[in-house]
Amino acid sequence: MEITSEKLSTAAQTASDKGLYLDYNATTPVDPQVFTAMEPYFKEFFGNPASVGHHWGWAAENGVQKARMQVASFIGAKSSEITFTSSATESNNWVIFGLLSKLREENPNQPIHFITSCVEHSSVIKAMLAAEKQGVEVDFLPVNKYGQVEIETLRQAIKPHTKLISLIWVNNEIGSINPILEIAQLAKEKQIYLHTDATQAIGKLKVDVTGMGIDLMSFSAHKMYGPKGSAALYIRGKDPKVVLNPLIYGGGQEKGLRSGTLNVPAIVGLGVASELCKNGLDSEIARMTSLRNLLWSKLQAAIPGLRLNGHPMERSPINLNITLPGIKVESLTAKIQKLGISTGSACSSGSMTISHVLKGIGLSPEEAQCTFRISLGRWTTEEDIQRAVDILSGAIPT
Ligand code: PMP
Repeated sequence: MEITSEKLSTAAQTASDKGLYLDYNATTPVDPQVFTAMEPYFKEFFGNPASVGHHWGWAAENGVQKARMQVASFIGAKSSEITFTSSATESNNWVIFGLLSKLREENPNQPIHFITSCVEHSSVIKAMLAAEKQGVEVDFLPVNKYGQVEIETLRQAIKPHTKLISLIWVNNEIGSINPILEIAQLAKEKQIYLHTDATQAIGKLKVDVTGMGIDLMSFSAHKMYGPKGSAALYIRGKDPKVVLNPLIYGGGQEKGLRSGTLNVPAIVGLGVASELCKNGLDSEIARMTSLRNLLWSKLQAAIPGLRLNGHPMERSPINLNITLPGIKVESLTAKIQKLGISTGSACSSGSMTISHVLKGIGLSPEEAQCTFRISLGRWTTEEDIQRAVDILSGAIPT
């Protein structure tokens, strides 16, 4: 069966017959325009961009370079500062281990201190824990009740040998926004590299790495209507020039920084997804914010006693993280099957341990079990908001 862009564009329609997807923080569908742009790179432009001797290679290389420009222009960077990776997970790991390896190479005996927070994505937390085992001193900063790092907490944690601050920009569970501009100013003042995991910020907030003073930034296509398996790391090229050792060695692709034959269709998809996000950003932020506010007010009216987790204002325009009054989300599962929301906060990776993010903002294990995340996206409508409210309020025992 041939999957055409027409078929894809009806996917949202078909899905809405089956149910209502409101889990855009987890992943987004591929935009039909992205899919259409990727398609030729599976067919006629299937060449290896490293094949410099023929048309097939050049065509693929052109696709990659165009995507690099589209991504760079979206985030206020230069093309030379973008390296393609397979996932934000890889980008985050690369920052931590690539910098560690470089620092050790330069001076094997120097003490190294990294700062992160207790509410990061697991790809930062677990990489930092692994770095700790390799002798790095790591501070996992506490956060305020909204899940944000306070600038004074960060200032006090800085040591003479702090080399990296890695903080999430927008939290994937509770949606709170960290004060990245102030954090970047402090990092610059102290001459420490700042890395931000912007996976949930990109396409939802204005991002300008150069203007904001960010040194390293991870992000992933599948959170912004691009394909899975495609992501990037922004590495500042000057003032200061940041140098990481590779995480993956091999054929020397991506200027020797990240070997492996490039996933050309997925890279092209990331490029077009970036351009689409850039063009519609202001109106999309306004539309999402208004739909999110509508959802929250309707939910509060329909279900008394709801509590919003994360910051009430400084939060992702697409995210609501809500604790029900003493009602375990698990008990609603059968009744909310048509609603694609995230109910996994109390049970990550199949284990019954409370989410580290909810724990970080002070929720008890019982409260975590009563908590769910609902996140909106490009195809969410006002009718969807009403439908979500009806499904959720209809599921609450009276
Ligand atoms: N960081 C954040 C904040 C995320 O939300 C995610 C995806 N859940 C990741 C990193 C990992 O992204 P990827 O799926 O591309 O590895």
